[in-house]
Amino acid sequence: MTLEKVPTARPQGHCWDLKVLFDGLNHTYFQGRLEAVLRWSPKWGGLSTHQSLRTPTGHVHLITIARAYDAAEVPQFAVEGVLFHEMCHIAHPPRQGGGAKRVIHHKEFREAERKYVQWTQWRDWERKHLRRRVKLGQNLLTSHK
Ligand SMILES: [Zn+2]
Repeated sequence: MTLEKVPTARPQGHCWDLKVLFDGLNHTYFQGRLEAVLRWSPKWGGLSTHQSLRTPTGHVHLITIARAYDAAEVPQFAVEGVLFHEMCHIAHPPRQGGGAKRVIHHKEFREAERKYVQWTQWRDWERKHLRRRVKLGQNLLTSHK
């Protein structure tokens, strides 16, 4: 297994600072126990992702948030919503399904995700606004490795 290079943290966007939002969510929902390298996606059409990188000193969680969320008209609950989703991947890792299948959004994960108090508003907002903001025919929300 090869070791992977951890990208530089890039939490400060034009409008939103991921570190501030991460710290707040971490404190409220995870007893402050999560650790991650945070960055905005390098390109506009980039996806929001969570990756677990293997490094010489252990695993590092990398959370990348789609650049489409870094705008003044994007409400805080929407940025927090997608960040919270990716944080849940740290707290609730993938499970082995039937055969070789890896289940990422398993039942426990889905239940944990709904604990975010503005989960419904976030999903509504995303359905109404995000797809228009980024003209891509792909799922903007999640992609996982
Ligand atoms: Zn996910």
